[in-house]
Amino acid sequence: MHFWFNDEHEMLRNVVREFSEKEIRPKIRELDEKEEFDREILDKMAEMGFLGVCIPARYGGAGMDYIALGIVSEMLEWGDTAFRETISVHVALNSLAILQWGTEEQKQRWLVPQARGEKIACFGLTEPDAGSDVRNMRSRAVRKGDVYILNGEKMWITLADVADHFLVFAKTDPEAGHRGISAFLLERGMKGLKTGTIHGKMGARASNTGFIVMEDVEVPVENRLGEEGEGFKIAMSALDNGRYTVAAGATGVIRACLEESIAYAKQRVAFGRPIAEYQLVQQMIANMQQRLDIATLLTYRAGWMKNQGLRNTRETSLAKWYATEAAFASANEAIQIHGAYGYSNEYNVERYLRNAKGAVIYEGTSQIHTLLQAQYALGYRVDKPLRCELPPYDAEEWSREA
Ligand SMILES: Cc1cc2nc3c(=O)[nH]c(=O)nc-3n(C[C@H](O)[C@H](O)[C@H](O)COP(=O)(O)OP(=O)(O)OC[C@H]3O[C@@H](n4cnc5c(N)ncnc54)[C@H](O)[C@@H]3O)c2cc1C
Repeated sequence: MHFWFNDEHEMLRNVVREFSEKEIRPKIRELDEKEEFDREILDKMAEMGFLGVCIPARYGGAGMDYIALGIVSEMLEWGDTAFRETISVHVALNSLAILQWGTEEQKQRWLVPQARGEKIACFGLTEPDAGSDVRNMRSRAVRKGDVYILNGEKMWITLADVADHFLVFAKTDPEAGHRGISAFLLERGMKGLKTGTIHGKMGARASNTGFIVMEDVEVPVENRLGEEGEGFKIAMSALDNGRYTVAAGATGVIRACLEESIAYAKQRVAFGRPIAEYQLVQQMIANMQQRLDIATLLTYRAGWMKNQGLRNTRETSLAKWYATEAAFASANEAIQIHGAYGYSNEYNVERYLRNAKGAVIYEGTSQIHTLLQAQYALGYRVDKPLRCELPPYDAEEWSREA
């Protein structure tokens, strides 16, 4: 057992940090203010291979492991949440779901262009009346011969108005509860498929968040991911990967709060001394350091388990719950250390607080993760093996070209 990253991981961390420093940080205040999604940064992320970081080379990816996925998420969110959100939906929630559940034909058709960054993908689960309670979704898919007819609306969907590919969920058997949900791969341009952007978000304002409307969209049967009725399992297994990237990203927020608070506390003088010398300020710095270490350990334990092919639903949920709450608490204290300056957008820390709030809501609210952890601890919940598990990382296999 060891607790450190290998040389490849360290190199990747430096590369992504430099990317955030050069490409994201100089632009982010303006993007945040104007609620603008920056296509140029997305294209550069694709060029860097971030959009297929942990996808095997034979499917167009960079062939790195799941720890690398965490590092890319962490260090992009060190730049800004919006860009980690892209990784969460494009790579973790959509591409990894296809890697896990897709047929070979589906991998060639959908995964390869996504991993190369030629097509952008999103994940449409939430609806206007169904967020935490996914089973309550209203979207319907009715089979007619070789096609399904999809009707319904998805809401709060990251990249909805930017994506080319959509993984959406709809009920094929409304009487069957969560066993009546199926998953479908849709693409922009299908008749009856419309998207729009939601404006006025508190944070992650440089990300695109929107809605998807499906009006009699004809979806060929070969676009169904998994078997009919497997949609709920597919969604939950995708969330195991999405939540991992959210936890890793939150770790990046804590890191940024700590670094910027230390720098500020050392140069800001009050009552004749740098504020870093006051123990009440040191308490807040120590809190952030403690949260950074705990969040890092919880997050990368989940990543390590993914590499081994071990089921990690409980560990990922715990990492996501802890790290996102810890990021919010750290941003709050970082503002406190910066005083009035922290309350203005002259510094980054007010943006960190607004951004961090979103992550305690999406991919399972803190209340949902609290319930999950209690259920595991009490023995009320025990995970059963899935028909298709996320494939364990295999360095040789992942680097093999097509
Ligand atoms: C910026 C952003 C991006 C998003 N991106 C996506 C995306 O890409 N794809 C996607 O599908 N969704 C996305 N979402 C939606 C997100 O996943 C949902 O908002 C989230 O699941 C919560 O659902 P809800 O908002 O409907 O809240 P609700 O489920 O209505 O919950 C409201 C409140 O009730 C509490 N609550 C609910 N049930 C219980 C219970 N049983 N016990 C105790 N408390 C409970 C919740 O914790 C919460 O505090 C995004 C949301 C945001 C804000």
